[in-house]
Amino acid sequence: MTLCGRAAVEAFKSSALISWRSTGKLQQTIGGCIEKTGRTLHSGKNSTVRIWPELSGKGRYFDFCSGLIPASIDFAQESPLCTTLRKNGHSVGTVEHLLSALEGTGVDNCRIEILNSDRDDDDDPSAEVPIFDGSAREWVEAIEKVGVTVAVDCNGRSCDKLAPYLTQPVIVSKGDSVISAFPSKEISISYGISFPQVSDISLQWFSSVFCTGSFYSKQIAPSRTFCIYEEVEKMRDAGLIKGGSVDNAVVFSTSKGLLNPPLRSLEEPCRHKILDFIGDVSLFARNGSQGIPVANIVAYKVRLSNPFLPPFSGYLLCPLKVVQCKP
Ligand SMILES: [Zn+2]
Repeated sequence: MTLCGRAAVEAFKSSALISWRSTGKLQQTIGGCIEKTGRTLHSGKNSTVRIWPELSGKGRYFDFCSGLIPASIDFAQESPLCTTLRKNGHSVGTVEHLLSALEGTGVDNCRIEILNSDRDDDDDPSAEVPIFDGSAREWVEAIEKVGVTVAVDCNGRSCDKLAPYLTQPVIVSKGDSVISAFPSKEISISYGISFPQVSDISLQWFSSVFCTGSFYSKQIAPSRTFCIYEEVEKMRDAGLIKGGSVDNAVVFSTSKGLLNPPLRSLEEPCRHKILDFIGDVSLFARNGSQGIPVANIVAYKVRLSNPFLPPFSGYLLCPLKVVQCKP
């Protein structure tokens, strides 16, 4: 994260543009432990994730190599093609799909233990969350299996769940990417992507109103990540997506169209961008609150998950004007 982004985040926390108010709901946690092992997208190695119930007020955090890394924007760092959290030399990568599932299903507090499963990886200071099928579906199914329950503090008391409510309209642009947000009583996200070189994607928009929990589980979570076949070699040469395959991504070719049909929905790529977006804004949560700002959010061509974080948090500094953030 840039210095500018860091300053913006600090300002966000005390910004008058955000009012932290009650959602009228209680903070929650999961009803039992979840354990899942799988291959990771970028390193191509295997990791195991165990998600444990946690007290109210504790929020979501990773437990890796005996250190705790809060799932907070304070610990997000710039990384190509995924969102990474880092603290005291230890990092956990590709956290966005898991965090999206937790935010989308209302798991406000939990401890996420992660370990590298491959035997030669004992000293590796970095871990990565498994990719599974490239969506958040497996996480949501695992959460639904153990259930979500009211979280209590160490005295057995339940706790009000707060959310950041936007109080004024704001717009931010970075290059040809734009995010705007308008005050609203409920969360709505409209997302646009543009890939003119891929006729099967071209220009797509998807709009969603998060009025019920099942909307996220049914309409957003099953959407898989996607890539452009002609760009895969470049990413491999950069040491990325070593674990990528047609089993964990929708692959489009500029000349041959969709290479591994069928799609799960017509706008699956666009829906996946909303999935990533929810995972990233979940990092605004603190002490078991909601992370997604309660606002009518419109985003266009915000291509990568992590680099948008500084401008998105920066928008909160910039009411009623368009801000050109330097690329
Ligand atoms: Zn993604």
